[in-house]
Amino acid sequence: MTDGKSFSKRDAERKAAALRRSDEWNPQRVLENRESPLQQLQQESRKTKTAVEYDATISCESCQVQRKETGDDTALCEQHFAEMMAL
Ligand SMILES: [Zn+2]
Repeated sequence: MTDGKSFSKRDAERKAAALRRSDEWNPQRVLENRESPLQQLQQESRKTKTAVEYDATISCESCQVQRKETGDDTALCEQHFAEMMAL
């Protein structure tokens, strides 16, 4: 708590930051239900990119091996992983 005389914008910001960290009041959670057009665009492009990459890797044997080994059906071989990161 503040001692009253040193209350400042900084204190308010610190309190707001503490609130943001708490689960009781999470603006991030609210934002997930009400995304900005920019965020939606970013998510859409990410989905599209992943879909394209996924199609390209379905026929890749190394990717299939990776998926079998990791049990993760989105796993990629080194080459495709590098390509994905480069995009
Ligand atoms: Zn691959």
